Amino acid sequence: MRNDAEAQHAAAMEKLRSALPRAGGTALPNLVAGEWVPGGPDTRETIDPTTGRSLADVTIAAPSTVDHAVATAREAGARWWNTDGQDRSRAMRKVADLIRDRADYLGLADTLDVGRPIRDTVTRDTERAARLFEYWAGATDRLRGATVPVQPGLFNVVLREPYGVVGAITPWNYPLTNAATKLAPALATGNAVVLKPAEDSPLSALLLGQCLLDAGLPAGLVSVLTGPGDVTGEAIVGHPAVEKITFTGSTEVGRKIGSRCGELLKSVSLELGGKSPMLVFPDADLDGAADAAVYTAFLNAGQTCTAGTRLLLHQSIADDMLGRMKERLAVLRIGDPLDEGTDIGPIVSQRQLATVRAYVASGLEQGAKPIDVALEVPEGGCFHPPVIFTDVEPTMRIAQEEIFGPVLSVFVFDDVGKAVDLANDTPYGLAASIWTSELALATELAAALQAGIVWTNCVHMLHPGSPYGGYKASGVGLEMGDEAIGQHMKTKSVWTATEDWRSPWASVRHEL
Ligand code: NAD
Repeated sequence: MRNDAEAQHAAAMEKLRSALPRAGGTALPNLVAGEWVPGGPDTRETIDPTTGRSLADVTIAAPSTVDHAVATAREAGARWWNTDGQDRSRAMRKVADLIRDRADYLGLADTLDVGRPIRDTVTRDTERAARLFEYWAGATDRLRGATVPVQPGLFNVVLREPYGVVGAITPWNYPLTNAATKLAPALATGNAVVLKPAEDSPLSALLLGQCLLDAGLPAGLVSVLTGPGDVTGEAIVGHPAVEKITFTGSTEVGRKIGSRCGELLKSVSLELGGKSPMLVFPDADLDGAADAAVYTAFLNAGQTCTAGTRLLLHQSIADDMLGRMKERLAVLRIGDPLDEGTDIGPIVSQRQLATVRAYVASGLEQGAKPIDVALEVPEGGCFHPPVIFTDVEPTMRIAQEEIFGPVLSVFVFDDVGKAVDLANDTPYGLAASIWTSELALATELAAALQAGIVWTNCVHMLHPGSPYGGYKASGVGLEMGDEAIGQHMKTKSVWTATEDWRSPWASVRHEL
């Protein structure tokens, strides 16, 4: 990056530093048991992917810190659950207000840590996080159980109870909204949470921790522990008093965590990777479809779990669509995520950039053809231009594996059956989008596609009230919507005899 960009980033970090919690020492502290605990001795740098410079030293929370956080979380969670639901609701609304008040800092943290454009982080991401808390604040006093009409003389009540302590582990791509997605439903359902953000993007979770404290949530109800998966993450997953794990991240790590939870017989929800198809039919609004195809593939530099990374075009409109997409790509701006005009920032880290480059190389080796996309890419930093591959065979690695970068594979089909087969032909099943003006076709396809989320003539629409989760290797369990309540609560069946009840053996009792 140029010197002026480096200076702009240094100044932005200085601004952010004034808002980040401090507790002495050089490393950023962790929120443990309601207090900011000094960092160290083990720390890790978090790097700005635009400049390659260190943003801060971040604490690696040791297993003993996890123990401390969990012990206080258990007590705080029990008190929280026994607080009037309307009071819990008020505290959660206050968190939403504080997120809005501090949007500049929360957004800046994710822009510096991840490289996501500031235009999106300070507006869309913070608003989404605030709305998640508001939506779930509305649930705290509506968590009803049920009665079941069982045998006469008996009364059966189905009670719901929180797990107690939920361990929440998040990825780096949308740090603030990922954390809010985990925290809001877990808190609304009466749980305490130990949150571990990704090691590449921990800053906004620390700022969010301060919002939770300032909103008056009980001390220790939420701990924010930073550190890598194999130290802090494994200690959370393995802790016997953490009864529920909610994980968002890669399918590879999800499998590992799922297996560990299986061994420990612990409840687990997994939101994992994707390789989502976008199907475009000849009767679609092609301008709208071209806008959507470019957006879904390259949003957040392709680092979006529901990204439409496989574009399936009907042969009669394939050239037309690719032409329209090239026009749209030509006006996109790749650059400094702190600039308001930037559409695509850098990839999160050198490691992830190397992964993306390796996938592009494998696509070329296996015979896929890149479309010429003449976009200017800044020097230095973790920037990668958008890549659109045609002539992709379904068996190629770029067609099957999640890349998590700005790489789109294009396929051509000539009938609906082939389109469905192609769309379903990966291990993943997170999202899919259908572009057609024919309602009957859209309805038929929505049923045929193996995906947890299907969008017709739109992409990336989410709402806290609508369930979110993946089929196949994209996940287990659901986030958001009423479905998320069941994921965060245990169910207890309570039987009470309303008349004299006798054991069946009572009538055949042998004389004593
Ligand atoms: P990752 O799986 O490498 O890491 C995710 C989190 O797990 C991090 O906090 C990491 O520290 C932690 N972790 C790693 N190993 C662990 C272990 N052994 N025990 C406990 N915790 C461990 O994922 P990432 O690279 O941070 O994020 C990208 C992935 O996330 C992509 O695959 C993407 O599709 C997925 N994702 C899915 C969704 C969804 O809702 N389905 C949303 C966002 C991202």
